[in-house]
This record gives sequence, C-alpha cells and structure tokens, in this order.
Amino acid sequence: MEELRIQGTGVVLRPGKLVCVGRNYAAHAREMKSDVPAEPMLFLKPASSLIGPRGQIQLPPESQDVHHEVELVVILGRHLRCASPDEALGAIAGLAVGLDLTARDIQQRAKEKGHPWSVSKGFDTFAPLGPIVEADAGQPRRISLKVNGELKQEAMTSDMLFPVADLLAYVSGIFTLEPGDLLFTGTPEGVGPIRNGDVLLAEIEGLPPLEITAVRTR
Ligand code: ZN
Repeated sequence: MEELRIQGTGVVLRPGKLVCVGRNYAAHAREMKSDVPAEPMLFLKPASSLIGPRGQIQLPPESQDVHHEVELVVILGRHLRCASPDEALGAIAGLAVGLDLTARDIQQRAKEKGHPWSVSKGFDTFAPLGPIVEADAGQPRRISLKVNGELKQEAMTSDMLFPVADLLAYVSGIFTLEPGDLLFTGTPEGVGPIRNGDVLLAEIEGLPPLEITAVRTR
C-alpha cells in the first residue's frame, strides 16, 4: 500500500481502525428502507481495506453488487477518550474524501440473518481515501460522486443527522480514538453499483478530489 500522509505535515498515517457511521443522512436511510437512528449506528472496517489516491479498487469474485458510498472522512491527530464535542474538534488532524465500498448483496444476506457486516465492508481496497488536508470539519461542504462522469450522489455535509463533533464525542465514549484512526461519517443518497472499468470521481468542496478506477481481475 502506498504511504498516506497528511499534506503539508509529512505525517505518515498508520490507522489502527476505521470507524464508520451508518445511516447518517436521512435520505440514504430512506433509500435503504432503514429507520433513521436515534443515536449513531457504528461499524468497523479493517485497516487493511484502506488504499490511497493512486490505488485501484479490486472488485472481489464473492460479490456481484459492490456499491459506492462517498463520505467525508475525519483523520484523528490526538488520543481521544470520552471527549466533549469541542474537545473532539480539537483532535482532528485533517479531512479527506473517501469511499466506503460495500458488497450490497453480501450485506443484504447478512442483514437477513442478523449477521455482522464485516465481510461486506471489509474486502481489500474497499476504503479508498483521497489526499488528507487540514480543513474545518464544521464547515458545510458540497459532497458528490460521479461514475464515468455521471452524477450519482450529491448532498451537503450539513445534511448529516449527527455532525462530526457529536460523532467523535459519541465514538470516543465507546472506542478510544488514537492518532491516525479514521472516522467515515456516512453517505448521502444515490448509492449504486460499480462495474469493471468504472472511473469514480469523489469530491468534497474545499478538499482535493479522489479519482479512482475499479477493476475485476478474478
Ligand atoms: Zn458508509
């Protein structure tokens, strides 16, 4: 895996964990026919699923329905435990645009059986991350995703049900957050399948874009 660095600082990212939030945009919860949660709904992706902006998405043979989920990703710069929302904002090292790729067919079968989501969310290359820059996590930003130039997802980060500061505070009460850990803050509506050869362009206003190709080699 290529080294991921926080731009301008040279700090190399070695994440211990990728914490993700499900159903953090009401319109996406509706399209998944899920209830809007009363508190943040968390799951984890393995650190081995992470790839940088020069990586390539590998579509696994186990799934025929891998979906894109564009998300604002927060990179922790400090240890955080049982933090207040204000303390949490002070622990952010940077922001990036990322993708929480999901094998929707595997996830659907897991949901039906009441099984965990780890397999559907955790394949190698299922967490592409754009360049990390220092930026204000509280500022409303347009977030969007295009597949082969066609707009699929578009929203404002201010549409999140739980904003970044509240998410970090909540998460830090459960998992101690360490420098380099990542928080994927949930995806807006418009998720859909990606196919061999597709070029994905993930953008968040004010951050460097992520352009990445998906391939099926097996
Ligand atoms: Zn997601």
